[in-house]
Amino acid sequence: MSVIFLGTSAGQPTTKRGLSCIALERKGEIFLFDCGEASQIQFRRAGLRFGRVAAIFITHMHGDHVTGLPGLLMSLQMTGRTAPLRIVGPKTIGEYVEANFRLLESGLAFPLVISEHDAAGPVLEHEDYTVEVAPLDHRIPAIGYRFAERDFPGRFDVETALALGVKDPRLFGALQRGQAVTVDDGTTVRPEQVLGPYRRGKIFAYCADTRPCDASTRLGREADFMVHESTFADDRAKSAEVSGHSTAAQAAEVGRRAEARRLVLTHFSPRYDNLDHLLIEARPHYAEVEAAHELVEMPL
Ligand SMILES: [Zn+2]
Ligand SMILES: [Zn+2]
Repeated sequence: MSVIFLGTSAGQPTTKRGLSCIALERKGEIFLFDCGEASQIQFRRAGLRFGRVAAIFITHMHGDHVTGLPGLLMSLQMTGRTAPLRIVGPKTIGEYVEANFRLLESGLAFPLVISEHDAAGPVLEHEDYTVEVAPLDHRIPAIGYRFAERDFPGRFDVETALALGVKDPRLFGALQRGQAVTVDDGTTVRPEQVLGPYRRGKIFAYCADTRPCDASTRLGREADFMVHESTFADDRAKSAEVSGHSTAAQAAEVGRRAEARRLVLTHFSPRYDNLDHLLIEARPHYAEVEAAHELVEMPL
């Protein structure tokens, strides 16, 4: 998996930064997290292909996170898409999309599969991964995301399997799927005899917009790549509290509590041209912190 930030600015775009949008790429599929205005332009700049968009996850209904959605859907339409597109978001995301297309007097030739959530729990169960959400602490309802690959079975030890009498290739598959098998001489071979230890799937977490809260910590628990909003520096801690945002130091504190392997800050107030002092304030709280750069591919 890899992550490309398409926008990192809070509230308004700047000449250097777009509005919130993150592309998570996994095995040829693209999952978008938030879709601020002009995300589709950044999407093109990043060299991404519209045909690969598998799902869009929206955190909340503030304009800087959703105003890019109608345009992006129209571009998907222009590619001739027919495959269904999943959109996950807070309550009213469906109404927002429907109202836009109704008032624009246009429709989409591909079906949208929209689900709305305001409570913690799984929202997508795929054979390779799961996605769960939890309500965060913002001015309006906002949900954070945890995208977790399922663990991979350990490596299959062919030599040991053969030595134990497993010769039929179909039995190899059953063992790899975790099933015990019976071989010709009647003995049972269990998966743990021929499989190495499970390999942990990668975990991506995205918490925006929010004050520091327990839900973010849970979503980011031991994540390989945790994204947390960091709208303000310490001098604006009061503004962060009032407007439902976090300072860089608070975001780092959440990353430390979550034991995220890597914490990447985003959603920066346009007042900060240079982000160095945000990192200087964040680092004493958690060393594994960095600031997001747009259009740079970051492998998990
Ligand atoms: Zn925002
Ligand atoms: Zn917001």
